[in-house]
Amino acid sequence: MPELPEVETTRLGLQPHAEGQRIHQLVVRNPNLRWPVNDAVQTRPCGQTIRQLRRRGKYLILDCDHGSLIVHLGMSGSLRVVDAQTPASPHEHLDIVFDNGAALRLRDPRRFGAVLWSEGDPLQHPLLTRLGIEPLSNDFDGARLYRVSRSRTAIKTVLMDSQRIAGIGNIYANEALFQAGIHPLQAAQSVSRKQADRLAQAIRETLTRALAAGGSSLRDFVGGNGQPGYFQQHYAVYGRDGAACPRCGQPIQQFKQNQRSSFFCPNCQKNQRQAKKYPV
Ligand SMILES: [Zn+2]
Repeated sequence: MPELPEVETTRLGLQPHAEGQRIHQLVVRNPNLRWPVNDAVQTRPCGQTIRQLRRRGKYLILDCDHGSLIVHLGMSGSLRVVDAQTPASPHEHLDIVFDNGAALRLRDPRRFGAVLWSEGDPLQHPLLTRLGIEPLSNDFDGARLYRVSRSRTAIKTVLMDSQRIAGIGNIYANEALFQAGIHPLQAAQSVSRKQADRLAQAIRETLTRALAAGGSSLRDFVGGNGQPGYFQQHYAVYGRDGAACPRCGQPIQQFKQNQRSSFFCPNCQKNQRQAKKYPV
């Protein structure tokens, strides 16, 4: 599932091909995404030029002359630049076709993604207006993380709550907690100021490392078939149930937390004060 680094890598890969392009038409092959692709999406952007491609949380924002397209990649979505004449495969639901004959093509097998049109300030769109702090912004540090963590839920749940911190999903929450030596079930409000410093630093490093890995995949966003491979990465704990902890060698363990898999090292991530709300 694309998280902040994957969405930001997508933005960087597409930016040179999208900014400055005039939108000729939108071709919608299947409107049934997370929310149906509506008439406004299909008609309003036509004839407008994409002035800027930016990101907020896991949303891509294509600012046009008058209004913005907002794209979310959902669970399985990807975007790439193709020649608009390239035949579309069954999961390629939508094209944003440019005057120059290229198209931004959305592929989304699970159809949890979304394409929306916002006439006003896209940051005030109901889906974006309540997003929490950007974890790679200068304002994000241990003090800020400590403040947004005052909650009885588990710390991992807080990290993945986009109204508190925008863009962190299951993979990077697991990785950052391991790096900071914090158990995923620890009650967020029991995270100390010192732990918050460590965790904020771990989040920044984890995301930055992923972005650096993504840098090598930027060319995958143009042409070819299939989807841009979201860069291969080596995770310390994510998906490594039973494998040796890279720090101490003990087997990594896995359990379900809010329907998502949590991975941790029982030796490096001792649970100091478990959140009551989410027992194992
Ligand atoms: Zn360990």
